Amino acid sequence: MKQTNLSIFIPHVGCPHMCSFCDQRSISGEQSAPTAEQVKTVIEEQAAHLADRGTTAEIAFFGGSFTAIPRDYMLGLLDAAKAAVERFPCYTGIRCSTRPDRIDEEIVDILRHYGVTAVELGAQSMSGEVLSANDRGHTAEDVRRASALIKQSGIELGLQMMTGLYKDTPERCLETADEFIKLLPATVRIYPTVILKNTRLGELFERGEYRSFSFDETIDLCAELLRKFTENGVRVIRLGLHASPDVERGMLGGVYHPALREIVESRIFLNDMKSRLAELGKGRHIIYTDPKNLSKAKGQKKCNVKALAELGYEIDILPLDGEYLLIK
Ligand code: SF4
Repeated sequence: MKQTNLSIFIPHVGCPHMCSFCDQRSISGEQSAPTAEQVKTVIEEQAAHLADRGTTAEIAFFGGSFTAIPRDYMLGLLDAAKAAVERFPCYTGIRCSTRPDRIDEEIVDILRHYGVTAVELGAQSMSGEVLSANDRGHTAEDVRRASALIKQSGIELGLQMMTGLYKDTPERCLETADEFIKLLPATVRIYPTVILKNTRLGELFERGEYRSFSFDETIDLCAELLRKFTENGVRVIRLGLHASPDVERGMLGGVYHPALREIVESRIFLNDMKSRLAELGKGRHIIYTDPKNLSKAKGQKKCNVKALAELGYEIDILPLDGEYLLIK
């Protein structure tokens, strides 16, 4: 059965300050926080649609700092979600995203009491310099401490990272991934920085004091990150911001593409083909791969085929069930 998230955005509420990159209202597309009663209505309405489609969902509180919002409000939202999980079989659990410095033993006990199944921490980076340059207001140690508390409680741990923030480097991103892997998260989300209007990053960008990684650098880096996490048994459940007209309208720079993950997976394919072809030598080759990989292997507008041609490899890519990369 297909599993999805019923995402409920709680914009800005509970944020103790403003991170350099964040205009949460643009990211979530919402202007005001929903009341617990409104959330209850949405959850109940969606239950019928999910059941019709044969889909199950987790009720997901995203967008702000869920465990930092006013306590009564948080409990009202959790009450609505818990009641729905108990009443509708299509809801399989509750997840939320929050700041690492807003997790302590008391909060974890509350989340467990309400049956929260997964907590995602907006860690963004494990470099102290990057965290402080981007006004995050928490440390890498906060991420380690909060992750340990979540893991000990039996709640699933998710970690979110960004690439290309102010003072960031690809090496720091790779170190962040290594640090994440040590914390044993079940899932990771990777968000290349999108520079938005009305943010401090936007001001730095417009003054020429900051540039994010280029599109190509980001694709190479994300290919490396995706490979690293996957090889270590961590599921990358999101790569890049969701497509949103608000983000597109408010974007000054950075990396945003609705098909970012497919482009990154295609780059991994290109890198694998390059290293295998290097063993075989230049010239003409036929590459077989499972039909489901064909478009990734060829790349958007056949960019992988063209890139290999420039390196002296004339290749045809053909379908063969069950193969990843068979070269003849
Ligand atoms: S990134 Fe998170 S913590 Fe920072 S301002 Fe936005 S919602 Fe608040």
